[in-house]
Amino acid sequence: MDRLMISVSGVRGTVGSALTPRVAAEFGCAFGTMLGTGAACVLGRDTRTSGPAVRNAVAGGLLACGVNVVDLGVTTTPGTALMTRSLSADGGMVVTASHNPAAYNGIKFLQPTGTGLTAADAGRLRRLWEGGEFALAGAGDQGTESRNDETHARHVEAVCGVCDPAAVAKRGFTVVLDSVNGAGCAVTPMLLERLGCKVVHVNGEPTGRFAHPPEPVAENLTGLCDAVRERKAVVGFAQDADADRLAIVDEAGRFIGEEYTLALAAAFVLRHRKGKLATNLATSRMIDDLAASAGCEVLRAPTGEANVVEAMRREGCIFGGEGGGGVIDPQVVEVRDSLVGIAYVLQYLAETGKRLSELVAEVPAYVMRKTKLPCPAGAADRVTAGARKALAGRPGAKLNDADGLRVDLPEGWVCVRASNTEPILRIIAEAGDGTVVDALIAEVREIAEGAIGECSNE
Ligand code: MG
Repeated sequence: MDRLMISVSGVRGTVGSALTPRVAAEFGCAFGTMLGTGAACVLGRDTRTSGPAVRNAVAGGLLACGVNVVDLGVTTTPGTALMTRSLSADGGMVVTASHNPAAYNGIKFLQPTGTGLTAADAGRLRRLWEGGEFALAGAGDQGTESRNDETHARHVEAVCGVCDPAAVAKRGFTVVLDSVNGAGCAVTPMLLERLGCKVVHVNGEPTGRFAHPPEPVAENLTGLCDAVRERKAVVGFAQDADADRLAIVDEAGRFIGEEYTLALAAAFVLRHRKGKLATNLATSRMIDDLAASAGCEVLRAPTGEANVVEAMRREGCIFGGEGGGGVIDPQVVEVRDSLVGIAYVLQYLAETGKRLSELVAEVPAYVMRKTKLPCPAGAADRVTAGARKALAGRPGAKLNDADGLRVDLPEGWVCVRASNTEPILRIIAEAGDGTVVDALIAEVREIAEGAIGECSNE
């Protein structure tokens, strides 16, 4: 599938075909038109080899609309978000395709707070791009470009402001870090050094030549697991290419699963602070159990980082994130931030004196499985209606239809929703017992196949 993917989280495409210099410049113009002449836009990029070309095209579009560009160079997404807010810019852009392979690049768009765009603003941006009528500035109103190299230092300061660097440093931990040769390469060792860690940095050259696919999932992290064992480290951390997502390997070199990043960070936060938490509908129940034992509540927002952040703001949440390794502490920045996750896990180890595997064992364990099936446009509503009919009457059923349908039952939960970016339907279930998970998935899958079949027969 070689087409430009446009969603609420930005634009992605393969370099040299879907994501051309023209497309990048047009999105620079579209965002510049939204911001207006005289506005300031912060611009960062990850390490991809296509980064300079895409970044220059984007900057050209912004400048042509009279927007003043603050170039941050190679920075992470959370770092760029932090600078957007701390420089009081009118918006931010990050040239990155996040966890996608090196063949891809993309653009993330940020609000003045650093958060991704709302669905309404993302829709407006898309229409501006499709319409192609940009508010280009005349010769007297062209934008100017300046350079700012403070991102990493400011980011490390902000993270150190919410943890206790001295308490971690006392332990002199050995840590293995896999930055996949991405945007986390420079800033993350700076943080780990402040935390007094001995850092073994694998894939730590910011070349954009990814040694493995950048998504921080088990099959891509075998090298990190080996390094943790060989170097007798207390923990291994893996970042994706723009360092917003974090995955963790325990002291035995075992990948603990992406869902545990948020759960461990939440367990740490709840030791120190009490308040509401927020996550999305597809995230593990572990965070609910942790919050319940601390007397706190978890809000469930529709899938998408901006939705979680919106719920956090609305309800004054102290902490939140997403199950795929995304930790959000609004005191640092209102986006997923691997550096926050790293600091919290290390301080949790330092404070408790326990091994990482012991902290994992303290979190109630679940089995989660995910499946997907092709789903034509329009069929998803029929699927959720069918699932609602079948499951709503079950004893103890709690329904959330903010995004597709999630049904929480005493024995487990199941969620069915249409993807925002592809014509597929995702079914996710979680329970203490794998047979319950399989039964929930099979039941909803059967409903889905029936509803999709009816749609295609019409
Ligand atoms: Mg990412």
